[in-house]
Amino acid sequence: MKDYYQNYIDGQWVDGGDGTIDVINPGTGEHLAKHAMADAADVARAVAAAKRVHDSGALTSVRPVERGRMVQAMGRYILEHLDEVAELLCLEQGKPLWEAKQEIRGTARYFEYYGGQADTMEGRSIPLGQKYYDFTTYEPFGVSAQIIPWNYPVEMAARSISAALATGNTVVVKSSEICPCSSYIYAHAAEAVGLPAGAINIVCGYGHVAGVALTSHPDVRQIVFTGSVATGQTIARSAADILAPCVLELGGKSGAIVHKDADIDAFTGNVRWGIYFNSGQVCSAMSRIIVHEDRHDEVVENISAMAKSLSVGPGIDRPEFGANMGAMISHKQRDRAVGLVAGAQAEGATVVTGGRPLNNPGSFMEPTVLTGVTPDMEVAQEEIFGPVVSVLKFSTPQEAIEIANGTPYGLVGGTFTQNLDQGMRDAQQLRAGQIFVNEWYAGGVETPFGGYGMSGYGREKGREALMNYVQTKNVAISIGGGSGRS
Ligand code: NAD
Repeated sequence: MKDYYQNYIDGQWVDGGDGTIDVINPGTGEHLAKHAMADAADVARAVAAAKRVHDSGALTSVRPVERGRMVQAMGRYILEHLDEVAELLCLEQGKPLWEAKQEIRGTARYFEYYGGQADTMEGRSIPLGQKYYDFTTYEPFGVSAQIIPWNYPVEMAARSISAALATGNTVVVKSSEICPCSSYIYAHAAEAVGLPAGAINIVCGYGHVAGVALTSHPDVRQIVFTGSVATGQTIARSAADILAPCVLELGGKSGAIVHKDADIDAFTGNVRWGIYFNSGQVCSAMSRIIVHEDRHDEVVENISAMAKSLSVGPGIDRPEFGANMGAMISHKQRDRAVGLVAGAQAEGATVVTGGRPLNNPGSFMEPTVLTGVTPDMEVAQEEIFGPVVSVLKFSTPQEAIEIANGTPYGLVGGTFTQNLDQGMRDAQQLRAGQIFVNEWYAGGVETPFGGYGMSGYGREKGREALMNYVQTKNVAISIGGGSGRS
């Protein structure tokens, strides 16, 4: 890895007008590298380059299948460089190396999937009688601005870059200032597949400097944001000023309902992924377990044993898939999570296992299970974004739904039962954009993902997401001279 990473604007590696930032390895607390920080002028250059490429028709005049092949080739390029990117991602983000590799495979999959959709954006013909032909086409917006968080910095960027390019947009990515280095791979991939300079620009910068400059730039015509609710609200206001549509993928406080008849062994495996994957720093994490009172003690015993079995430490020392967990992104995030657990104890919750930072220089927190949590507690309402699961009890299915729906969020929800009728009733009643029945994180790149309520709006993933990147044009053709108006 390098000591210093630059921004990528109009095909050039450049320094930033806002100096540099120190990137820290959260697994050791040590300095890892420096990254250039963009100012408003850098952002303006990136937007101008992206607009120039869009206006040139370089991406829109080719047959969509050709564009799609380039997008797919980017994914293959990234896979060919999996080891180098995954190691860097692991070092700057803190996740186990095997999880970082999984993220890079997920990244490549987005390019494969959306590249394959490029030639499927078909319009329709609208019947207006004999005197007209009328049809619709889908056209890209132009410059797509994409603001990326630190929890899956490579995969989240892939989700929006691949769909934007497949539909013929050009892109300016504002990478996370906490975890920016591994985004370099997008520039290399773009060059390797022959995208014109300026089609993809990657700038790192502070949210209040580069982020604001990007989301308020009048030549940005579409915005994709993944991150916190507060920042999403700020971006929605900026987007209103420039009248750019935006997709907001925000936080969550997602609950899994565990019915009396659930398979508890299988459920325990789901908790391992649901809350301890990426140290719980997942927007759709299973942060609440809402369990039938008759199965409560058994669930708590099983998941506590599983949590205790996880080996926690630097991601780079955890190359293999297994019972392990890496660092949180920073001391700040870890201390916030530890503080929320202490607050829950003060409100009457019990820490069955975990709850403390590890006594070493990295940003580690023990895998944590909280019981005695009630729906009104802060820990049951606030997104923790850490390896902390809260267990709540219910006695009737209706009560379970009320607890599950009783937060302002609505990103995902889940239900575990061997009774399909019960599962389907829950799926109907849970207020969230994606429902998992008997498998947390079931689905894939093909399935639409996004929030209800304070979890945001718009959808990423699946075919549905493509509609965020295009605008409809209607062409009405009068034939035969006479008016066919009704
Ligand atoms: P954040 O909101 O602090 O930052 C996200 C990005 O926004 C960063 O790149 C930051 O620089 C930028 N930013 C900050 N202020 C800005 C502004 N005023 N204008 C423009 N850009 C600005 O979030 P984070 O701490 O990086 O990520 C954690 C949060 O993201 C959690 O709440 C999590 O739930 C959410 N998240 C959601 C999803 C999803 O798909 N729904 C995925 C990952 C993370």
